[in-house]
Amino acid sequence: MYYKTGEKPGKGTYKCTRDGQIVVLDDNTDTLPPCPKCNNTTYTKI
Ligand SMILES: [Zn+2]
Repeated sequence: MYYKTGEKPGKGTYKCTRDGQIVVLDDNTDTLPPCPKCNNTTYTKI
């Protein structure tokens, strides 16, 4: 399952599908940002 920039998928650790950059959301109201490294907009949850 994939998660995209702009979604609010809830607390968790997400990994960029392009370069593996980790993004942590620590609140259920947080929105997934574009990848801070490569600007990709697709993540998987890990
Ligand atoms: Zn990335």
